[in-house]
Amino acid sequence: MSKTLIIGAGGVAAVAIHKCCMNSDVFPDICIASRTVAKCEAIKKEALAKGTKTKISTASVNADDVNDVIRVINEYKPDFVMHLALPYQDLIIMDACLATGVSYLDTANYEPLDSAKFEYHWQWAYHDKFKNAGLTAILGCGFDPGVTQVWSAYALKHHFDEIHYIDIMDCNGGDHGYPFATNFSPEINIREVSANGRYWEADGYSNKKGEKGNGTPGKWIETKPMEVKYTRNFAEVGEKDMYLMYHEELESLAKNIPNLKRARFFMTFGQSYLTHLKCLENVGMTSIEPIEFNGQQIVPLQFLSKVLPDPASLGPRTKGKTHIGILFQGIKDGKPKKYYIYNTCDHQECYKEVGSQAISYTTGVPAMIGAMMYHKGLWKKPGVFNCEEFDPDPFMEQLNKQGLPWKEDFNPELID
Ligand code: NDP
Repeated sequence: MSKTLIIGAGGVAAVAIHKCCMNSDVFPDICIASRTVAKCEAIKKEALAKGTKTKISTASVNADDVNDVIRVINEYKPDFVMHLALPYQDLIIMDACLATGVSYLDTANYEPLDSAKFEYHWQWAYHDKFKNAGLTAILGCGFDPGVTQVWSAYALKHHFDEIHYIDIMDCNGGDHGYPFATNFSPEINIREVSANGRYWEADGYSNKKGEKGNGTPGKWIETKPMEVKYTRNFAEVGEKDMYLMYHEELESLAKNIPNLKRARFFMTFGQSYLTHLKCLENVGMTSIEPIEFNGQQIVPLQFLSKVLPDPASLGPRTKGKTHIGILFQGIKDGKPKKYYIYNTCDHQECYKEVGSQAISYTTGVPAMIGAMMYHKGLWKKPGVFNCEEFDPDPFMEQLNKQGLPWKEDFNPELID
């Protein structure tokens, strides 16, 4: 009987846990472990009130301390760990998994606390250790990263002989009624959107699949934050401004999708969000440099994230839909082809189902599906892998069954 340890009890974890509990045949026994055990208890209570057959236990863990994670793993003895806390803990939890012989999944790539660097090389460097231990590590299994890579693998398998251009578009048409709030971890969100934009272009358009960890035969083109803007009409949402950003799946797609010429990522932001962010940046509130305050060191961004609304509290207030899609261009049977795949997700429907808004939902559901793929033996191979390195078909089937159905458009509007 499978046992799953879920670390973290925030917005994403709450959704993943509810979804695990709705799939008790695959998740008969789970343990929720996080820093604030009361949050684990609250999620457990809600899941039990819905009548789940999954056995649920809770534990307190400090995921910044490898020995404490090892302690919890040894006490609960899971065969899979879903890490749904914060990216700073990725390497610590991977180390704890290696020390105890347990496979691993996360939803965001490792970044050091003191520098906003979103790079996979730290985690890819664990490939041989996981391979030699016969363990699987599934990296970045949320929506973006996560589903975006499953879709890329699916497009390559079923619709293209070669994919040349990938444009990922993440549109949130939801409104929570606050002048400024982030839909997931404020600290991670602000670090991400205030970083420079970047997209990837192949050198001489001759990219061949790179060796794991050896980097990519291409180059990154850097832009200022929010420098590149397009307006696009998103199905079921309407017209929105989208901005070019760096996003972590670009790095692994550039390595794993052969013949790729360019990969870009865009996200929509409303004017109120951007104005507030600019103001917070201008006064130094988004800085990750520690400062002295009342005799102690504080990080302005960490302080800011404490005064902003908790993403988990946005559920009842958020109305509207998300729309996340990928525009692919490439070659099929010698002819140019374009293909768009997307999902729309209604904030209020998510709230009715699991008590969370759609951003947590669109991340928590794929995390549960990734764990399900592992438990069913479908995504189980020794080593450290990104989502496009597994068979996309069983995952795509579960997206339709578990609340994130996808739609296709074979004549999409192009971006210049
Ligand atoms: P939250 O901030 O809502 O939740 C984080 C949880 O982790 C909290 O319960 C927190 O505990 C717990 N935690 C933090 N530090 C520790 C620690 N040292 N030890 C134990 N527990 C800890 O974040 P989200 O749920 O919104 O996001 C979770 C993850 O999902 C993040 O890594 C985020 O980047 C990622 N994400 C991925 C997306 C994707 O599409 N791939 C999209 C959105 C998010 P406490 O309750 O005590 O604060």
